[in-house]
Amino acid sequence: MVKAISLLSGGLDSILATRLVLEQGIEVEAVNFLTVFCDRTARGKDCSSAKSAADKLGIKLKVFEVSKECFEIVKNPRYGYGSNINPCLDCRIFMIKKAAQYMKEIGASFLITGEVLGQRPMSQRKEAMRIAERDSGLKGLILRPLSARLLEPTIPEKEGVVDREKLLAVKGRSRKPQIELARQLGINDYPDPAGGCLLTDPGFANRMRDLIKHKPDFTMGEVQLLKLGRHFRVSPETKFIVGRNKEENEKLTNLAGSEDFRFEPAKVKGPVGIGRGNFDKEHFSIAGSIIARYSDKDESRRIEVLYEKMPGGGQDSIVSLPITEETLKGLRI
Ligand code: SF4
Repeated sequence: MVKAISLLSGGLDSILATRLVLEQGIEVEAVNFLTVFCDRTARGKDCSSAKSAADKLGIKLKVFEVSKECFEIVKNPRYGYGSNINPCLDCRIFMIKKAAQYMKEIGASFLITGEVLGQRPMSQRKEAMRIAERDSGLKGLILRPLSARLLEPTIPEKEGVVDREKLLAVKGRSRKPQIELARQLGINDYPDPAGGCLLTDPGFANRMRDLIKHKPDFTMGEVQLLKLGRHFRVSPETKFIVGRNKEENEKLTNLAGSEDFRFEPAKVKGPVGIGRGNFDKEHFSIAGSIIARYSDKDESRRIEVLYEKMPGGGQDSIVSLPITEETLKGLRI
């Protein structure tokens, strides 16, 4: 029996593409790439959308955790970034190359993707698709069932393994044809197309750019920290992160490393702040005033802020007035 693998993000396009091939009696196994940049992870080990889609399609799912490999791509993409810090074309090429290795391992003969011609400016132009095929070494072996009839026939179509007539000719950014096809196929539970990858989020992208600039050899933990709280660049070597709610305060405390400082107001309600880097007297003062800005205060507006070296190092305190909005704006990442 012919076997194919499908890049399954769990979004509607990848579900439909997989389903169109399954309906031709071809065995399909799904592949998903998980990174620290995915915001649909379940317990940090599965993409919840991909898992749910594979279950509903009744196919096996292979998940590859590729955060470290993606760090290099994000730092230095050969084909540049999309509108934020998303190196989509390099990322697609990487995923396709990785999938190509797995294809060989399991004896699959071609790859399915949910790409739609012209849907995304960076990675779903004809030229970008051609580059991805060339650089991944899968020329003629990437089937895009949603746009197939607008593209050169692939090897499985030419060999009659896949019936081209049963594939589609969808193009552009409108999602109407996909939504209509989903309705016809009884697929009614799929995630919103927005979201999924934090690299496309403008706020996260700013924090990521700042991290690459100041700490190019960043770690997984440092990227995890970017997902939480408000971030401030206190100096080229120091940064300060403030929780926005109780849950973030707890997560920040858990993520703090042995060289970090933990700040919190002594007597009033307010956030936890984590200071990272070479903190001197001026940096403690700035961190204290940021904590004061986000804490409850009396008329004097001064509050006592405790700080300690993590975990459980010696504790000290400073009295701080809230930082001015203008200064705060200048520090915000
Ligand atoms: S949106 Fe994110 S995961 Fe998707 S191709 Fe672009 S960089 Fe990669």
